[in-house]
Amino acid sequence: MQQALMQTYARLPVSFERGEGAWLWDTDGNRYLDALSGIAVCGLGHAHPAVTRALQEQAERLLHTSNLYGIPLQEQLAAKLCARSGMERVFFCNSGAEANEAAIKLARLWGHRKGLERPGILVMDNAFHGRTLATLTATGNRKAQAGFGPLVDGFVRVPFNDLEAVDAAARDHGNIVAVLAEPVQGEGGIRVGDVDYLKGLRERCDAHGWLLMFDEVQTGMGRTGSWFAYQQAGIVPDVLSLAKALGNGMPIGASLARGEAAELLQPGSHGTTFGGNPLAARAALAVVDTLERYALAERAAELGERLQAGFRERMGALPGVQDIRGRGLMLGIELDRPCGDLVKQALAARLLINVTAERVIRLLPPLIISDDEADRIVDTVSDLVQDFLASTADN
Ligand SMILES: *Cc1c(COP(=O)(O)O)cnc(C)c1O
Repeated sequence: MQQALMQTYARLPVSFERGEGAWLWDTDGNRYLDALSGIAVCGLGHAHPAVTRALQEQAERLLHTSNLYGIPLQEQLAAKLCARSGMERVFFCNSGAEANEAAIKLARLWGHRKGLERPGILVMDNAFHGRTLATLTATGNRKAQAGFGPLVDGFVRVPFNDLEAVDAAARDHGNIVAVLAEPVQGEGGIRVGDVDYLKGLRERCDAHGWLLMFDEVQTGMGRTGSWFAYQQAGIVPDVLSLAKALGNGMPIGASLARGEAAELLQPGSHGTTFGGNPLAARAALAVVDTLERYALAERAAELGERLQAGFRERMGALPGVQDIRGRGLMLGIELDRPCGDLVKQALAARLLINVTAERVIRLLPPLIISDDEADRIVDTVSDLVQDFLASTADN
């Protein structure tokens, strides 16, 4: 049946038809533990009753009216997200790439307002910001960019976690107006931005009058143990991108801003047909309420420690395991060799995981997992890695 699809994904040979909490059932009735959450989307797990009820009620009432009219649910959601994040205004869209497109457009407006004809945005090695042309250009992955030239002008790339490189870029490029970065790089291999690095970015942005723009599409909504990852560095950005977990599977993205950055877009300067429609906004409101009610960001921090401690105990001494890292429920286990085959081996063991940056096992379990489910992830992954390292040892 997949002949009718553009072949953008080398899909695994399994299809799911039902989910509940951290579990998925395939079309043959087999049950899988989901340690990936649809790539950090289903933070509340599958078929969460609060989201299901919100969608059911809203579907019976009103799906869409367009942004030509007031949308009270969108306004309520914006107010809640601003209160949690320290931002002041929100533009809703439908995906992470669109949220970052809005951020990039804000930076351009910011630059032009300063009288710069060709404003530049500082982006990082190994960054991932999406697949539209501008966000693909901002993405630090040559393979993802190959064949899509000409790319978009106006980006300057520096190594991640390197403040000296930021200072050098500031000296070399007089046109920089913003920094776009993930506080924890996801696709790039669960690379954690040091607290001092994130603080240092804030200082540089203040010193130079740049916008600090965090892409929290993957890290946001409690995933890293706080509502937003930057909160662990005690700073606030000027612009914030959200998507993935915001709707728990209902597509919705958001670009948030504060201060002068929040006033840059005016009627006619940006827009969207679907963005923030009543159905999507209602789902996201249910997500926000559930994160609040069950203190799931705090729970993610606790579970992250449990998982990291478990992995260190089971695998810390294995020579093939180079690093165990992450924040909250965004975890990476870096091996000394390519390990893409582990994804299929895990699938056979009825566990869903991901491998990114060739050698990094990426785990993004839902925030609602139990301690027992977390321990099960530790056991299964540790067994798989042990077998994998033994079977691929070069001797
Ligand atoms: C997934 C992701 C994106 C892109 O989101 P889409 O919804 O696929 O467009 C952007 N930035 C980060 C950090 C992501 O993880």
